[in-house]
Amino acid sequence: MKEAKVLLYYLYREIVDVEGEKDWQLRTCEELDILGRVRIAREGINGTVGGAVDSIVEYEKRMTKRELFRGIDFKSSMAESVPFSNLFIQVRPEVVTLGVDRSKVDLSAAGVHLTPEEFHEEILQADDHTVVIDIRNEYESKIGKFEGAVGAPLRQFSDLPRVATSLVDQLQLKDKKVLMYCTGGVRCELGSALLRSYGVDQVFQLGGGIHNYLETFRSGGLFLGKNFVFDERIAVGPPDKEPQHQLAFGRCDRCEESFDDYSAGRRCRYCRVLVLVCDNCAEASCEFECTNCPALVSKPTKTRRKRKEKWSAASADVPENSAERVISF
Ligand SMILES: [Zn+2]
Ligand SMILES: [Zn+2]
Repeated sequence: MKEAKVLLYYLYREIVDVEGEKDWQLRTCEELDILGRVRIAREGINGTVGGAVDSIVEYEKRMTKRELFRGIDFKSSMAESVPFSNLFIQVRPEVVTLGVDRSKVDLSAAGVHLTPEEFHEEILQADDHTVVIDIRNEYESKIGKFEGAVGAPLRQFSDLPRVATSLVDQLQLKDKKVLMYCTGGVRCELGSALLRSYGVDQVFQLGGGIHNYLETFRSGGLFLGKNFVFDERIAVGPPDKEPQHQLAFGRCDRCEESFDDYSAGRRCRYCRVLVLVCDNCAEASCEFECTNCPALVSKPTKTRRKRKEKWSAASADVPENSAERVISF
């Protein structure tokens, strides 16, 4: 029985009193026994929270009552239990870290929002002048993506400015119609605005992301596999597709057998990115390296140890627990 509810939301709107907002969120979540992650910035808010159904309904009510969050779009899903083990509310410079001078990215020029039905139709009608781009991290796309979509491919969202520059050339995006999607929509706001700042005019984004699409096309539609989520559920399949009919879209990095389970939390020993390695392969060797690990790109001999140390230090603040990684795309 699914008794917990998970809420996903974001809003780009100026929050003048970020510390006051942090206090409000802390107070409200503690009072309602809600767990999860909320990221607050001057430019807006981004949250994934979970709790008992009544608590989440009340939280939603209190949020929408406030002038500041008028019109905020909540996306919800049910879960067997609350998929978070703590509450983490932080004030950060950006709602999503893009790693580029933000004054050059005009959010008001973001791609046109499409409804799930419109996005679906656009993919069906796609010709040589249409490119569907998945701007999530590579490990997310490995277990599920839209038919025919091109992966960015990113290790983390802040790689996008660099990766997008080469995608624009490689895929000749300036002459094409770009259909972009991510998990819940927030990354597309920034990603589509970034592409437009690179001179790509025709950019469309899936409003509410894969999450919204699967709520509309509840058996999966054109989305293959599962949606990677940043809480303890890790991956969520189409709601109306029985688990036994959800074939794994992913493949083990090593043996290429069908596999899509990240729950063991296997990570590259150098850069700590999630690796998709099946149980059999993990039994054979429990030391993992990701494909084209940036910590090992140059000669993995003498410099290997140094690089490894550097990367371990750099990624030391990446918590092991998947739920800790929420909103840190
Ligand atoms: Zn394997
Ligand atoms: Zn690696």
